[in-house]
Formats: sequence, C-alpha cells, structure tokens
Amino acid sequence: MVKIIREKCINCNICKEKCPFGAIENKDNRLEINENCKECMICLKNCPQKAIIQEKIDKIDKKLEDFKGVYIFGELEEDKLHNATYELLTKGGELAEKLEENLGLIIIGNVCDEEKNKLMEYGIDDIYLFNINDKNYDCKTYSNCLKNFVEKNKPNILLFSATSMGRELAPYLASQCETGITADCTKLDIDESNKLLKQTRPTFGGKMLATITMPNHRPQICTVRPGVFEEVRLTEKKAAKYIKENVVFNKNENKEILKKINKVKRDSELENAEIIVAGGMGLGKKEGFDLIKKLANSLNGKIATTRACVEEGWIDSKYQIGQTGINVSPKIYIACGISGAIQHVAGVKNANYIIAINKDKNAPIFEIADYGIIGDLYEVIPRIIEKIGGKE
Ligand SMILES: Cc1cc2nc3c(=O)[nH]c(=O)nc-3n(C[C@H](O)[C@H](O)[C@H](O)COP(=O)(O)OP(=O)(O)OC[C@H]3O[C@@H](n4cnc5c(N)ncnc54)[C@H](O)[C@@H]3O)c2cc1C
Repeated sequence: MVKIIREKCINCNICKEKCPFGAIENKDNRLEINENCKECMICLKNCPQKAIIQEKIDKIDKKLEDFKGVYIFGELEEDKLHNATYELLTKGGELAEKLEENLGLIIIGNVCDEEKNKLMEYGIDDIYLFNINDKNYDCKTYSNCLKNFVEKNKPNILLFSATSMGRELAPYLASQCETGITADCTKLDIDESNKLLKQTRPTFGGKMLATITMPNHRPQICTVRPGVFEEVRLTEKKAAKYIKENVVFNKNENKEILKKINKVKRDSELENAEIIVAGGMGLGKKEGFDLIKKLANSLNGKIATTRACVEEGWIDSKYQIGQTGINVSPKIYIACGISGAIQHVAGVKNANYIIAINKDKNAPIFEIADYGIIGDLYEVIPRIIEKIGGKE
C-alpha cells in the first residue's frame, strides 16, 4: 500500500503530475492516494521530499493444514438469498462430507426468518452474519469483510456464484488473500489422493474442459455458473450455529450510488407466448404502441419491445426482449420498426418464424427474418389488421 507521510509532504504536486493512473488527488490542498493506485511506485521515485512510502500489508499466515471448511458466499437480493447460493450449498455439502470438514455460509447483511427456516434444509454447520454499516454492495468493502473472515477462520474452500457480484468480488478477494481463483467452474470434486479441490471449467472457447487444482495456496476460491448444480434439500433439518460479526468499515468515499435500477421483471406470459408483436424505435412515439397492441390482440399475441424504447420511457422494462431483457421462444415473432441489434436478436434466437417490418431494406433484422416487409409500419400494420379482422 502506498502512503503519503503528511509531515514530510510539501504539497508540490509533482507526484500527482507524474502518476500515470490519476491515482493522486489534491483535496483541499492535501494530496491523497485514491483507489486507482497500481503501486507502480513512480510517485515514490519522483517525490523530492521522500514523503511517499510503500507499506507492506500483513500477509495472511498460511499454514495450509490450518485451513479447514467449505464456505459459501451467500449472495443477498434484499433479505433473500439468490437461488445460486442454494445450488452452491448443495454442492458444498457434498464436498464438505468428502473432506469431513464443516459446511459454512457467509452472509453480509441479514436474512429474513423464512430464509433462515429454509437454510435448515442444507446441512449447514455455521452461518456467519456480517453486520456492516453500509448495506449497499461495494466490492472493496465486501472484500475487506471477507478478508477479515479468511484471516480469522482460515477456510479451505470458498465458493461464489458467477453472478455479476461474484465475478467481481471473488477475484478481488483472491488477490487480497494472495491466492488463486478458478472462474466459471462447471464441475467441482475432491481429489481423493491429496484432498485438493478439483475445479473444472471450459477452456479454448468451450472446446475442452480443464481441471485445475491449487496445491500451494489457500483458500481455494472459485466461482460457479448459476444453474450448473442442482439444488437439493435434505429431508432432515439441521439448525446451524449463527455467528454474528460486527465489522465497521468506512464507506468507500470514492464511490457514490446515484441511482439503483431494478432488475428487469420477467413477464412469464411473454416468455411463454406463442405470438409476439414487438415495437421498436421505428414507432417514433409512445402512442405507436397502440397500433402494436392492436396487431397483437388481432393475433391473440403479446406485445414486446427493444431496450431503446424502454430507455425512452415509452414502455415498461418488463416487455424488453434481448440480452438484458427476456429471452423468448414464440412460434411467430413480428418485429416492427426494429433495427435488429445483436443485443436484441439474442433474445429471439429460438423463435420459429421471424417477420420483420422495416422501411430500411438494409436493416440487419432482415438478415435473420424468415419473412420481411419493406415499408412504413404505419401503412403496413393497419393493412395486416384489416386483412385478418382487427380486434381492439
Ligand atoms: C450492453 C447492451 C445491452 C443491450 N441490451 C439490449 C436488449 O436486451 N434488448 C434490446 O432490444 N436492446 C439492447 N441494447 C440496445 C441495442 O444495442 C439497440 O440500441 C436497440 O435494440 C435498438 O432498438 P430499436 O431497434 O428499437 O431502435 P433502432 O436501432 O433505432 O431502430 C429503429 C428501426 O426502425 C426503422 N424504422 C424507422 N421508422 C420506421 C417506420 N415508420 N416503419 C418501419 N420501420 C421504421 C429504422 O429503419 C430502424 O431500423 C443493448 C445495448 C447494450 C450496449
């Protein structure tokens, strides 16, 4: 860790100018090192006052045999655990049994009583609850919390779900603990000969599977894709021991949460619809969806949209199809005034037939469409409705 010695610093700003990462800021005539610091030591070499030093962080004392237990990071959504956490608890239970070690769960925050009840069906020995002062997820704060846990409890194995949170947090923690990580595992097992965790993941673009072990470092950390392992509840309930940890970490001053955007709500009716009529920016205005609804009603179908229309505020996000929306597999998908961006068509790959209405004959949507109508949707759609006998 790079540190400025206040007593020696004369605020000359040379370090700030030399830093290639913009990691030194002058706040109220006081130079401070921010999170961009890569410890390249350019500042240290250029400081005329020798006012910058590198402090060695205490390393975790690593006697490998002291590391015991299989621990799962419990990812919270409000006060409920993510489904993937339960999948990991099931797999973690199997691994712990083979190793004859404890199964533990680490939660940063708190879970509701309903969830605590459910947790009794996974054979967990210990549940660590970290009560932190700022509940908003912040990688650095969470990782500090977990590093604290690793130092105190020395877990042998630490499993994370490969969700957005897990993908950020697990490698950050692994680097803080100076251990390795295997990302996106699809299979986990224990090597009977040496009791190491066998971490299998696809490699070479999914053409091969690699099995990785970590003989010299602890904890053995990996992330697992959600949905890879089955969630199985045990018939016998077991009450875990709850251990409360009160950790006060300072809020990350370099980060401010401006807005929280809720995850796209899934519309199960849309997911299962046989006919979908989707309207895009080609509608030109919010009211254009009246025409889309009319066509959808005439075909007993459902309406959908693109992200661009959601961002315009024309329609609710639950209707958004695509990479960051819903994946659908209807018999017929009618794309009206939709360009066919890759992120959108990712959600309609499983449609049996795609019909596109677009006034630009070069629109990419025509490349994936089974039938294409080149024309103004405000002329084409009323004629289709008229032909099939429109319904309001
Ligand atoms: C990380 C990321 C994730 C994303 N995820 C998604 C996602 O999940 N879903 C998604 O949809 N998008 C997503 N996007 C956005 C995506 O890239 C496109 O911007 C978006 O899909 C475009 O929407 P659109 O086709 O409605 O608009 P445009 O691209 O503006 O297309 C409008 C089309 O309408 C046609 N048109 C105009 N007027 C008429 C008319 N009168 N009659 C007929 N045709 C007409 C035009 O020729 C044009 O082809 C994502 C983008 C990023 C960066």
